[in-house]
Order: sequence, then structure tokens, then C-alpha cells
Amino acid sequence: MGATAPQHIKSFYPMKIVSACLLGINCKYDGGNNRNEKIISLLKDEILIPVCPEQLGGLSTPRSPSEIRGDRVYSVEGEDLTENFKRGAEEVLKIAKLYRIKEAIFKDGSPSCGVNYIYDGTFKGVRIKGKGITTRLLEREGVRVISEKDI
Ligand code: SF4
Repeated sequence: MGATAPQHIKSFYPMKIVSACLLGINCKYDGGNNRNEKIISLLKDEILIPVCPEQLGGLSTPRSPSEIRGDRVYSVEGEDLTENFKRGAEEVLKIAKLYRIKEAIFKDGSPSCGVNYIYDGTFKGVRIKGKGITTRLLEREGVRVISEKDI
């Protein structure tokens, strides 16, 4: 991946990537959001760059709910959406590299953004320990990812 930050991009405020739905953007699978006042209050002192890996991966909003099973991601109808999830993760990584961002705040439980837990792939609301596809890629590339619950 060749995305490097142009020299003119400098900021006096800490910059972080944030799951867009936490900032009130209606990018959730059901067309809603996960607006979180605590996260929004961070804007006083930090620049938060909203990203939605699922939209960046080419999925529509609203869209079917998806869960991770093994190394793949399936919609509730059984469609294999792994490539969309991987593409979205790569796009988020590009943004992180462009702005030299080293920290992300992500929505836990999501098959893209999950940090401490995801769902088990049965669509029965069963939580398991695990990380979303974008979280995995960012962490592999040295970005620290924390859950909105840990703020
Ligand atoms: Fe929010 Fe991430 Fe799901 Fe997009 S992919 S709706 S940013 S949790």
C-alpha cells in the first residue's frame, strides 16, 4: 500500500479515526446510527475522522445484517460479502496512512469495527470474543484500536 501523507498535512490536534455511526452518521445496516455523546464530546480537543468500512467496501445503506463465520463474512441471507468487508478495511487503512493516524475508536460488536467482541455467525445474538475485519487489518498495520465502551 503506497499511501503516504503529503508534507503539508500537519495538525496541532490529535487525530483519530472513528466509526462514523458513533458520530451520528446514519450508516448502520438498518439506516440508523449509534450516536454516542461521550465520543462527540472528544471533538472539543481532537479531530475525529468518520469512516464506515461497510459503506467504503461498496455495501448499500440500509443493508442486510452480516456476521463473521470463520474467516468469512455472510449476510443473514447467506450471501458471502467477505470481499466487500476486505475492500472497506483497505480503504480505511488508506485514510489512516494519508493522515498518519495511529489510533481509532470503533463500535464494538460490528463485523467490521468490533474490538472486544463480535457475533458468532448464527444471527441469534450470541456474542463471542473477537474482532471485526477492519479492526484486524488496522491492528496488523500498527494502529491502536479501542472500543467506544473503553472511552
Ligand atoms: Fe458503524 Fe462500523 Fe458498522 Fe459502519 S461498519 S455502521 S462505522 S459499526
